Amino acid sequence: MLTTGEFWPGLAAPVLNGLALLLALGFRRNRAVMLLLIMSCAALALAGLASGAGGDRGIEAMRMFAPWLLLAIAAMPERRLLARRNLAVIGLLAIATWLTLAAPAHVWPGLRDAFPLGWVPLERGLVAAGIVLLAAAVCLSRWLFQRTAMEFAMGLVLIVVGIAQLPVMRADGASSLFCVAGLIALVAILHASYRMAFVDGLAGLPNRRALDESLARISGDYAVAMVDVDHFKTFNDRHGHAAGDRALKAVAEQLKTTRGASAFRYGGEEFCLLFTGARSRTARQACEELRKRIAATPIRVRAASGRSGRKNSTRAGAGEVRLTVSIGLAERDARTRESDEVLKAADKALYKAKGAGRNCVRIG
Ligand code: GH3
Ligand code: MG
Ligand code: MG
Repeated sequence: MLTTGEFWPGLAAPVLNGLALLLALGFRRNRAVMLLLIMSCAALALAGLASGAGGDRGIEAMRMFAPWLLLAIAAMPERRLLARRNLAVIGLLAIATWLTLAAPAHVWPGLRDAFPLGWVPLERGLVAAGIVLLAAAVCLSRWLFQRTAMEFAMGLVLIVVGIAQLPVMRADGASSLFCVAGLIALVAILHASYRMAFVDGLAGLPNRRALDESLARISGDYAVAMVDVDHFKTFNDRHGHAAGDRALKAVAEQLKTTRGASAFRYGGEEFCLLFTGARSRTARQACEELRKRIAATPIRVRAASGRSGRKNSTRAGAGEVRLTVSIGLAERDARTRESDEVLKAADKALYKAKGAGRNCVRIG
């Protein structure tokens, strides 16, 4: 039976990093998988060798090999797990592990003096920390451009691992920091999987599953608005699918600012607004404002397009078109006690808005 003292932090670090690795594998976050594979091996080296027969070999191995491998992973784009580059890193990790476990005692000092950059007149831990912090900077600068939470989390994880390399760190301190890094990775992967399940990637809005969850919990008065982009098929045909995607994002941005409502992407070019604690009459004003805002917002398309004379996808200037939406509104009342009845009533009202010429709001 392990005591807390034996488990923490030496064994806890590889266990936490290993768990995060399994989660990353499950969610196909391949760069995170590679990062955590290297971190798990480094944490195992710290746990197994630092205080054992190998003397300081565990912490030395972590400083010698991990920084280069982490930098390589930080610099690589996301690829399938068994892509050639990933296999090359796995091969190098296997060689590093073999050297750590099997290099004879008389060979080790020579290796240690060469890695990570033997000729740099600085302590090895400082050089190793510098390389890992450079890897962190690569992830964080990618995050600045792509804004993906996973890239930010990888940057944070690498900062913590970079601190673990510093010369002042002993094996226990480094293991504790690997625990922190593993925990950050775990939380980030769980957060990313939550977003995958409940947030629509294109619009950046909660999806239909999130709407179902909100409706299952709701009580008291509420109103629901179904918002559908007018003649969107024509817009796509005329300006292309990529412009269509940008247009949906622009519409979603407007929906996010609707007064008193939570916005969801219902599916395709349909969105839903949930007004908690409100009736249709009060929600109508916010829907009208939203409709007008969308109709007044120009959407940029390639200048050559936009030659349309169509009513609801009208030309607004060179390379700019405007879209309109139709909105159907319904509330929970004596006839519509269940949420699917409210949704159905809102859908009917939307149908009426389409029939009335589009670009308008109707109450069911
Ligand atoms: P109406 O005014 O009656 O709503 O006409 P509509 O053309 O908007 O409706 P229809 O249901 O005929 O077409 C919806 C179109 O929305 C078809 C589909 O290609 C497009 N669409 C759905 N989801 C997306 C998406 O994520 N991106 C893009 N670009 N287009 C999408
Ligand atoms: Mg439509
Ligand atoms: Mg539709």
